[in-house]
Formats: sequence, structure tokens, C-alpha cells
Amino acid sequence: MGAGLAFDERIETIFQQVRARNPGEDEFHQAVREVLESLGQVLAKHPEFAEQKIIERICEPERQIIWRVPWQDDRGEVHINRGFRVEFNSAIGVYKGGLRFHPSVYLGIIKFLGFEQIFKNALTGMPIGGAKGGSDFDPKGKSDNEVMRFCQSFMTELYRHLGEYRDVPAGDIGVGGRELGYLFGQYKRITNKYESAVLTGKGIGWGGSLVRTEATGYGAVYFVREMLKVRKDTLEGKRCVVSGSGNVAIYTIEKLQQLGARVIACSDSNGVVLHEKGIDLQTVKRLKEVERRRISEYASAHRDAKYIPEGNIWDIPCQVAMPSATQNEINGRDAKTLVKNGCLAVAEGANMPTTPEGVRVFQEAKIAYGPGKAANAGGVATSALEMQQNASRDSWSFEFTEKKLDGIMSYIHQTTWETAAEYGATGNYVAGANIAGFIKVARAMVALGLV
Ligand code: NDP
Repeated sequence: MGAGLAFDERIETIFQQVRARNPGEDEFHQAVREVLESLGQVLAKHPEFAEQKIIERICEPERQIIWRVPWQDDRGEVHINRGFRVEFNSAIGVYKGGLRFHPSVYLGIIKFLGFEQIFKNALTGMPIGGAKGGSDFDPKGKSDNEVMRFCQSFMTELYRHLGEYRDVPAGDIGVGGRELGYLFGQYKRITNKYESAVLTGKGIGWGGSLVRTEATGYGAVYFVREMLKVRKDTLEGKRCVVSGSGNVAIYTIEKLQQLGARVIACSDSNGVVLHEKGIDLQTVKRLKEVERRRISEYASAHRDAKYIPEGNIWDIPCQVAMPSATQNEINGRDAKTLVKNGCLAVAEGANMPTTPEGVRVFQEAKIAYGPGKAANAGGVATSALEMQQNASRDSWSFEFTEKKLDGIMSYIHQTTWETAAEYGATGNYVAGANIAGFIKVARAMVALGLV
């Protein structure tokens, strides 16, 4: 970095270095660029961050672990998958972030998720660092026994890197209660310790927290409620569309319905269900949480619903859109369609579901746009509440825990709003989230010295 460069030029130089050092990791580059674009003024105000090369350090994971995961299917055939854990930053607390099992997983996906997690976790106000992990294993269509054998093999390496005071994973795409149970069982067996706080998202009967299952979806809806409140509006009667039909989508739909909104569509990777009367959540829960079936079957249970194979959910006119499936699911064209159709608010339950072009469209249209880092932080925040309960051998009521979640989401909204305003970007939650999260971690990194 040459002396005398303008701050934005310096940041561009850092970004080019990150890209060159991490070739082929497109999602990671995208996530880094989005954060770095917000930081020009921060370096101007805090020259110590530039002197200490905080941005360069924050873009380099503290540790990356990649390992072989061999397992046998029910017919005895041997399969080899790859396991990943990227421990990105532990300046403010233990490494914390979920595990994703999906065939699309490679290092670039885990690094984008781990990088985002640093700032998201800082925004919650809780003492948790950033990490992410997973595998290119596909749990879809596998028997319970196959999933168990895979999880046991995966944990047989991962366990040595984990610990209540070291690294605490949770679930993500493809990793729910079943998988976490098998992972925790193997950890407990190998270490001969009942170390509850080593994983979060556990079942209620074995160390889990009430509200953790609902937390990401509920939290994202609280975030929309807060964004609408600023605009003197509410969710009551709003026409909403929620992509996906997994953990985040289901509890997003539930809370939207509780707050009086009408959810008319959801989806999975095969297609979209449109139900003008309002999605029947019990059917979605039965199909997805119990029977592990496709969303197409919703239309067999509800004759007045329409199933659109390979449909684009963002073509459906709505006032509130909540992407809750996966990264880059809303592109520039989709964003334009949403705005043209009168969408007022977008809150991201998923991580990085909107492409940079889509984000620009939302910001130019000045609709309320809550990025995942802020809007979906309720999941990890409630994981931290689970760790608190584990540490004190306590378990809190649903009402008490949900109230804490609500308070945390309101705090995140307020922090991102105020930080954006302080940096001359009122209403820009992307800038607010990136700057507030970065400053908290950067200050801790300066205090801890060059480590
Ligand atoms: P689930 O596995 O429970 O559900 C994922 C849903 O998204 C499924 O309906 C799935 O459809 C769909 N989906 C996944 N990948 C794709 C794809 N490539 N194309 C289209 N649809 C896809 O995962 P979660 O609900 O836990 O996670 C959803 C999002 O929320 C992810 O971005 C995750 O990182 C983020 N998130 C999750 C948190 C949590 O607490 N679980 C916390 C914060 C963020 P299908 O079944 O057909 O694959």
C-alpha cells in the first residue's frame, strides 16, 4: 500500500490483494468487496486502523482446516467428502458460526460465510468471534443411518478444533436438529465430556434453548418491523413473499403471520408455491420438518394453491420480500421487478441472497433494505443465549428468551440506523451494519496487539 493514496484507493488496493491471494473464490470476493466499500470514511476517522493493517488482517482467516470425510452408504459403498472449518476472527470472543452441508460447498462459500459472520456477531453486542464450516455432503435423499455415519466421520476430525472456550459451531443449510444430534453425540463420545456449550441448536431435552429453532426467522421479521416503524408503517395486512421452505423460511412465515401479514408464496430449489389465500404453515412444516418432502406436494394438499415448477418467486408482486434460501438468489433483474411491483421492504433471512447489482437497485429505489448481517443475526444471537444457559446450567422460558431476542433485534436495528446516520448515509443499513460491526472488532484487534 503506497503512501499518499486516497483512502478509497487504498481500499481498492487491499481488495485487489485479497482477490489475488484467494483465486477462484468468487463469493468470498463479493462479501469482502461489499464490506470494504463501506470503510473509506472509517479509515479516515481512525488512522490507527490503517497503521495496524486491520483490514488486511481481518480479511485473512486466523486458521483454515480442510479434511477428508470418508463414510459408507447403506449398501456398503464408500464415499469421500471434504470437511471445512474456517476460524476467521476471535478478537471479541470464541469462534462462532454454523455448519453447512450442501453439494455446492467449497472453500469460497465457507470463507464468504465466515467473513460475514465476524461483523454479524459483533453487531449482536455479544462476545462471539466469526467462523463457518461444512461439507460438500448432500443430506438430501440419504437415510438417517447414512447421515449419522457421515456426521460421526466429520466430527472425528473436527472435534480436536472445538471447545466451549475455543470454537462453537451451529447449524446452517442442510444441518438441523438431526445432524446436530449426531455431531454432538460423537463429540461427547470422543472427548468423554458432556460439554453442552460446544454446539448450539441442540434439542430441548439435551441442552438446547427454547426459541433457537425459531430465532433466525423471528429475528428477521422483528428487523422488518423496526424498518417499517421508522417509516411509520406496520406489517399488518402486508402481502409477503418468503423464499425457501427450510428453517429460516418456516419461522419467518410464522412470525409474519402472527404479526398480521399475509404470506402468499414460498419455495424450494425445485419450484414455487403460490397460495393467494395465505400459506398454510402446518402443511409446510409437515412436508419439510417431518416428512422431508418437496414443496410441490403442497399443491396436492391445497387445491386452490398453484405450484410453479422452476418458477421465480420474485416475479410475484408483494410489499415485503424475505429471501430465506441461499446466496445470490435475487439478481438485478429480480430486484427491479420487486421495486416495479411496489415492494416496500426487503429483509435478508439468508446470507448474501442479493447480488451487488440487486443491492444497488434497492438502494436507488430507497426502499427499506436490511442486509443479512443485520437482519438474520437473531439466529447466532440466540445461539449465544443458549451458551449462556449452558454455562449457568439453566434453562429459560420461551417468553423470556423471545423477549431477549426481540430486544437484541431492536438494538441491532438502532445501532445500524444510527451508525449509518453518523457516517452520512442515513437509511443505508448496509453501511450501518458494515461500519458498526467492523469498528467493534477493529478496536479489539488494536487492543490485543499484533496477534
Ligand atoms: P435449510 O436447509 O433449513 O433450508 C434451506 C432452504 O433453501 C430450503 O428450502 C432449500 O431448498 C433452499 N435452498 C438451499 N439451497 C438452495 C439453492 N442453491 N437454490 C435454491 N434453493 C435453495 O437452511 P436454513 O433455513 O437454515 O438456511 C437458509 C439461509 O439462511 C442460508 O442462507 C443460511 O446461511 C441462512 N441463515 C441460517 C441461519 C440459521 O439459524 N439456520 C442463521 C442465519 C442465516 P431445497 O430443500 O430444495 O434444497
